[in-house]
Amino acid sequence: MNFFSYQNDTLCAESVRLVEIAERFGTPSYVYSRAAIEFAYREFDQACSGRDVLICYSVKANSNLAVLNVLARLGSGFDIVSGGELARVLAVGGSATKTVFSGVGKSVAEMRAALQTGVLCFNVESEDELERLAKIAAELGKIAPVSLRINPDVDPRTHPHIATGLRETKFGVPYEDAPRLYRKAASMPSLQVAGIDFHIGSQLTEIEPFVAALDKALEFNDALGATGIRLQHIDLGGGLGIRYRDEKPPTLKDYLGQLFGRIGNRKLKVLFEPGRSLVGNAGLLLTRVEYLKNGDARSFVVTDAAMNDLLRPALYDAWHEVLPVLRRNGPAQRYDIVGPVCESADFLARERALTVAPGDLLAIMSAGAYGMTMSSNYNSRPRPAEVMVDGKTAHLVRDRESTEDLFASERLLP
Ligand SMILES: *Cc1c(COP(=O)(O)O)cnc(C)c1O
Repeated sequence: MNFFSYQNDTLCAESVRLVEIAERFGTPSYVYSRAAIEFAYREFDQACSGRDVLICYSVKANSNLAVLNVLARLGSGFDIVSGGELARVLAVGGSATKTVFSGVGKSVAEMRAALQTGVLCFNVESEDELERLAKIAAELGKIAPVSLRINPDVDPRTHPHIATGLRETKFGVPYEDAPRLYRKAASMPSLQVAGIDFHIGSQLTEIEPFVAALDKALEFNDALGATGIRLQHIDLGGGLGIRYRDEKPPTLKDYLGQLFGRIGNRKLKVLFEPGRSLVGNAGLLLTRVEYLKNGDARSFVVTDAAMNDLLRPALYDAWHEVLPVLRRNGPAQRYDIVGPVCESADFLARERALTVAPGDLLAIMSAGAYGMTMSSNYNSRPRPAEVMVDGKTAHLVRDRESTEDLFASERLLP
């Protein structure tokens, strides 16, 4: 299914021409397709049919309220990593009882907020955190449902910056410590042991690391069961990769089929925390060419979008497809696509053959996940607008920041 396609040589989001979006809302702008998000969610959901499953969309991939609301309306749960994300979920009518709270550094205030709203589970990542949570829950007269995020020490074979399940990463508790920590949790009256959790990394394109992690978690679940601690759920995290270029991520059928196969008929509810696989290919970054700059060694397309708008290329050398919004005839030339930010790392793409002229629009594809959420104001650049297309209509779902917004909360010394 393709929700961004050319109609008469002009690139469209669903039925809306991107040219029109640029005229109405300006550039750079993120553009999302509602149908693409719904398609991805429903595909995941349907592939789980017949199983006791909760899909908890990972909010950090794209936390725009309209995106969260589209998913909440489909019945999605959420995976959050901060109090800010919890507030977003609640603001769109998402339900706390379908929300799991992940992350290595939950603050006292964040724990309180999550306990007050009654989240489904805290995915606890250290002994210190377990103790803090028990104390705060007791103070509030609540019982906190907990999973331990185990670090299964498997290599997800993805970019090192997005690998999270290796011993040397900061995430989760070492597999060997888990039995003791579960006994400890079970003995604390303000905690209720609910499940087990892992998340081994992002943009995984093979199934084997998921299976290896799951096998460890299941072995653990079974051993724990033998000691009388019964888990209600197993949370397999997110991490399923998408196609940016020529990757061949596993199909949902294969991925889920293998995982469900391993779980067999154990009476465990299964939670997933997909982020990128639900929204990554549902968005693009629309940008306008400011200048062409021909150098001896390289030629550059200078766009009005930069690394502060889309960090992935600068941060992990990520590859995004670049498409001209209007197809032009004429010979193509090789360009690096770069932004106005004063850093050599400021590029969106390298070595791309394009036929372009100043003023043209380009679409940086597959920018729906970890795009806007990783944006910043570096170089005092207002962040882009966000637009969601729904059929024939484009809706502005976040205003472009203004220059006044940039320093509205700053003060001079008296
Ligand atoms: C980031 C994250 C996810 C989502 O990962 P994707 O690769 O986007 O699917 C899920 N769970 C946790 C704990 C995360 O940190």
